[in-house]
Amino acid sequence: MELTRRGFLKATAVGSTIALGFDVARAKAEMREFKISRTTETRSVCPYCAVGCGVIIHTLGDKSKNAKASVVHVEGDPDQPVSRGTLCPKGITLKDDITHKNRLTKPKVRRPGSDHWEDISWDDAIAKIARHVKDTRDKCFVAKNAKGEVVNRNPGIAMIGGCTDTNEFNYLQWKVITALGVPYRDTQARV
Ligand code: SF4
Repeated sequence: MELTRRGFLKATAVGSTIALGFDVARAKAEMREFKISRTTETRSVCPYCAVGCGVIIHTLGDKSKNAKASVVHVEGDPDQPVSRGTLCPKGITLKDDITHKNRLTKPKVRRPGSDHWEDISWDDAIAKIARHVKDTRDKCFVAKNAKGEVVNRNPGIAMIGGCTDTNEFNYLQWKVITALGVPYRDTQARV
């Protein structure tokens, strides 16, 4: 029988495994278990597209005093009914997105006439958004249409939900914007 280079390497690899009594598959599984054994699991939804696959985010270092939490691993959530543990090649890179140095972690504002964005506190951001919503509604509100029929709509505002928003969140969100008379609304995913 002719022995190819690939065949020789395969045979010697198997031979070594048997000779040492070493189960490679089990060793690999043990390494993976060790990597996530001390992590905190947080269930979330992949933010990249409307499929809404479930993810488990593993965080290390948030249980010790003075330890800074860091995300060390992200994997598909087997209990999530949409994706059942699977992630596409884009979703599986989510850890790099979370830990990237350019990731935005604070609200930002670009003031009128400015050429750059500034950090702003959450309290200030929420107050500003509320102010803009009120001003826009006051300016654009339509109580009656051309026929004199009551419509109570606010065509100056539109609302779109994100792909990580659940149906429950979107239900509440739509209740709020309906009360404001906003007619233009949609959500990316129905998860
Ligand atoms: S894992 Fe892929 S298919 Fe699933 S939500 Fe993320 S980007 Fe979309």
